[in-house]
Amino acid sequence: MTQPLLTVDNLKLHFPVKSGLLRRTALYNRAVDGVTLHVKRGETLGLVGESGCGKTSLGRCIARLYKPTSGQIHFDGQDISHLTHKAMLPIRQDIQMIFQDPMESLNARHTIGDILEEPLIIHRAGEYAVRQQRVRALLDIVGLPMRSISRYPFEFSGGQRQRIGIARAIALNPRLIICDEPVSALDVSIQSQILNLLIELQKEYGLSYLFIAHDLAVVKHVSDRIAIMYLGKIIEEGPSQLIYSQARHPYTQSLINAIPVPDPHHKRQREIIVGDVPSPIHPPGGCSFHPRCPRQFTPCLAKQPAQVTLSEQHKVSCHLSASHDAS
Ligand code: SF4
Repeated sequence: MTQPLLTVDNLKLHFPVKSGLLRRTALYNRAVDGVTLHVKRGETLGLVGESGCGKTSLGRCIARLYKPTSGQIHFDGQDISHLTHKAMLPIRQDIQMIFQDPMESLNARHTIGDILEEPLIIHRAGEYAVRQQRVRALLDIVGLPMRSISRYPFEFSGGQRQRIGIARAIALNPRLIICDEPVSALDVSIQSQILNLLIELQKEYGLSYLFIAHDLAVVKHVSDRIAIMYLGKIIEEGPSQLIYSQARHPYTQSLINAIPVPDPHHKRQREIIVGDVPSPIHPPGGCSFHPRCPRQFTPCLAKQPAQVTLSEQHKVSCHLSASHDAS
């Protein structure tokens, strides 16, 4: 079997929370709390969860913008979990990020030409003429006019700025792109254009994506597999179609029920999930979803559910599935 491009094992990212006059660390924000996942070559893994569930922290930790507290990240067989900034430099060519807000991630004082040339300069990708040729090629690939080279980010629409963000991400021919809510800030009509562009680029260049979103409807059309994240943990994962048709975790089911159906006669059984994601500084005991779960029962308050394998690729962490399997 081919080795996955990315493997994450029991990854934890705990941010110290300082308090008091002496600014001592009394508590930890458990943003990522024991995540295990993998991304195969050329596939898209959708990572879905509400704001505050830790998905962006996980993406940044995998890209090694954050240093993990513990656990392992293997990229193409190499353990990159604790590499120094210098040792990470060649690997950064292969792992790139696309951010949610292109306006914030693009330097407003630089022209688009400068922005796209910057990673080529950092990674010494050829002389000036070669770099300029690559910048023009990148604009062509993402469907922006050549005159964009001398313009500034504020002169573009949100969708065009995201195209610039994508062009920058693919400048060094990466193998894995972490797409952190790349369409969340865009109008619905523009979202599909950007998603289609990402799909085309994947086909053309064999890219792998970790596609982060808070909306299952967005990842539905781009993901081969989907992982659902809640309070720093993956609570269900499986092939995209299986997650949509046979979700077993009550939280996943509620996310699916929240997807609008363009049919006025379609009736859905709705289980209402109330409240917000609890603080990762004070996570609830037992199953971390129990304060909001409409189906909780006695064991949920006392014991964290173990991960249950329902089929080769479908895994869920819920006492209900464990008891069904046992019966
Ligand atoms: Fe709900 Fe219990 Fe399952 Fe957690 S373990 S999701 S509280 S039924």
